[in-house]
Amino acid sequence: ASAATALPAADDFPILARPVHGRRLAYLDNGATTQKPNAVIEAEARFYRESNANIHRGVHWLSQHATELYDAARVTVQRFIGAARADEIVFTRGTTEAINLVANTWGRKTLKAGDEILITTLEHHSNIVPWQMLCEQTGAVLKVAPVNDAGEVEQDGFDALLGERTRLVAITHVSNALGTVNPVARMVERAHAVGAVVLVDGAQAVAHQAVDVQALGCDFYVFSGHKLYGPTGIGALYGRARLLAEMPPWHGGGDMIRTVSFERSTYAEAPQRFEAGTPNIAGAVGLAAAIDYVQGLGMDTIVAHEHALLEHATAALTAIPGLRMVGTAADKIGILSFVIEHIHPHDLGTILDSEGVAIRAGHHCAMPLMTRFGIPGTARASLAVYNNETDIAALVAAIEKAQTLFGTRPKR
Ligand code: PMP
Repeated sequence: ASAATALPAADDFPILARPVHGRRLAYLDNGATTQKPNAVIEAEARFYRESNANIHRGVHWLSQHATELYDAARVTVQRFIGAARADEIVFTRGTTEAINLVANTWGRKTLKAGDEILITTLEHHSNIVPWQMLCEQTGAVLKVAPVNDAGEVEQDGFDALLGERTRLVAITHVSNALGTVNPVARMVERAHAVGAVVLVDGAQAVAHQAVDVQALGCDFYVFSGHKLYGPTGIGALYGRARLLAEMPPWHGGGDMIRTVSFERSTYAEAPQRFEAGTPNIAGAVGLAAAIDYVQGLGMDTIVAHEHALLEHATAALTAIPGLRMVGTAADKIGILSFVIEHIHPHDLGTILDSEGVAIRAGHHCAMPLMTRFGIPGTARASLAVYNNETDIAALVAAIEKAQTLFGTRPKR
């Protein structure tokens, strides 16, 4: 079967049937956020219809019921990423909050002036800025591993920056701007050899490949539900139990304490210590439904489909004269970042939109990476399980239309 018919999932996503500007929607902005299947929409609605109450505090039946659903969602996340224990999963608003949590707890407690944090040139702003802020607070120093012209982290350069002062290595699993997959297990091994703790940003990974935090060996792993067919406003931090146990709280409030007096408060164990206030209960339930949905399709099926579609799309796009692909890593997931001669990415994005083709244009929250490639930004088409060859045909046709409009369409 061709990639176009490998997965009969399109009906599961009601929004994909919605025309945009009178055109069939080709939604290729999945790196920003994915669309939601009925299973997720229904799970969240069902929670509010049938199960809504605050958790942990109530003696009443509904509260206990809601608590069970929330706790079950934590176990679903634990199993999904292969964590050893459910209490190693902290619910957060998403990747960004999870990284800030680690910076403000583990980071503030651990880092001293002169200590080093090593990141890579591939990072999203949310895996750069919290560390810069932490460096300002502690006097630690930020180091950045280089990437080659294909958009791969130079492993020699990475190794050379590891040293006895390296306390933290924070790396993305998959680049949101280029699709590059980092050899995380290898990088974790090298980082551990110098005694550094490793945080992996899995925002772009969890929906597109199987993740096993114990096999990767990382100490922290973070992701957002909304890029995994789940709701916005929910995500997770995985942290090794030993590390979470030593980390001070960040947000203070209800549900994160053991005892409170006006003189002094004592804190709950992880993960409750890091979940002050009423959490996004419905979001956690929706995230669990998204994980169930993904597992129902099967990660192997998803990987095979998206890989075949990436190959198809890469061939179709590179055949367009004047188009240059940015990011040609050997190990890559479904992200196509490109520039077109004489057309600014934003203009391209606007013309594509008028054809019903949704992509993202700009720096993709990775300005230093764009600087590395000497460009202000790219046009980015990012794939998900519901995309097919019809979407790619629409993308190609819309790009050719843009070239015609701009009078820059070279002969094939
Ligand atoms: N890291 C990467 C690699 C991402 O792609 C994103 C989202 N674009 C983030 C972090 C931030 O995720 P969120 O906005 O959901 O917190």
